[in-house]
Amino acid sequence: MILTPCKKGPVLQPCTLPERNYQVDPYIGCEHYCYYCYALNQAETDWRKEVLIHKDITSQLEFELAGIPPQTIYMGWQTDPYQPCEAQCRQTRQVLELLLEKGFSASILTKSDLILRDADLLQKMSAASVSASVAFNDNQIRRLFEANTMDTEKRIEALRQIKKAGVRTGALLCPVIPYITDAIQLIDMLAPCTDVIWIYGLSIINRLDQNWLNMKKILNREFPDLLERIEPAIFSKEHRYWTELRDELVALKNDRQLNLNIRL
Ligand code: SF4
Repeated sequence: MILTPCKKGPVLQPCTLPERNYQVDPYIGCEHYCYYCYALNQAETDWRKEVLIHKDITSQLEFELAGIPPQTIYMGWQTDPYQPCEAQCRQTRQVLELLLEKGFSASILTKSDLILRDADLLQKMSAASVSASVAFNDNQIRRLFEANTMDTEKRIEALRQIKKAGVRTGALLCPVIPYITDAIQLIDMLAPCTDVIWIYGLSIINRLDQNWLNMKKILNREFPDLLERIEPAIFSKEHRYWTELRDELVALKNDRQLNLNIRL
């Protein structure tokens, strides 16, 4: 993987999530390379080969944090802070060390169990939380849609260990791909090791977007018989697939008293 230093800034960006004012993405690009990723539509490099990194991220961030009251900073909105190159590059770890030193906490979303390396830092923060995003029950199918991520079970095991370490955990069940993702089964796997589960369907804005072109190619090749059922569901949230799944999830939430945020 080529890591190209860039002078893009600021590192600290506004965050649109509720209860979060700021976010940090230690990498610009993501070698996980999920073919459905909306951020791919604005990719400046081929993420399978080249990812950009902030030059001297800690000095830049330290400067930007000055004068901001300690709070929880979100990491993982645009790109994954624990993509494989983080094992050597340690951009994310450096950010966490700085946040801890300055009295901040981090709320992290990842598809990797590399986060376990940094549990020591997260444990010392006053309000850290970790979420894993998962979308596939079958790892053979996952590999078709996510070029370079790790098995679903490994992500869930990481959540279990993080929760055991006393850090709040969540899951992002996303994207639910109609007729491919078994959301109910994934919720069964995730519920014991998470405090909250957010559920989102695959969202494609425009049929010309790169992520839809990628998806369509895979669906055409691997699931040609399913494509004509999947495509109308992807482009209409009123499709029967979603209304039935919503009803099923609401019933599950009520029957089992699960903390599900259904955003389908
Ligand atoms: S892990 Fe997240 S940011 Fe990275 S390619 Fe996949 S969806 Fe995009």
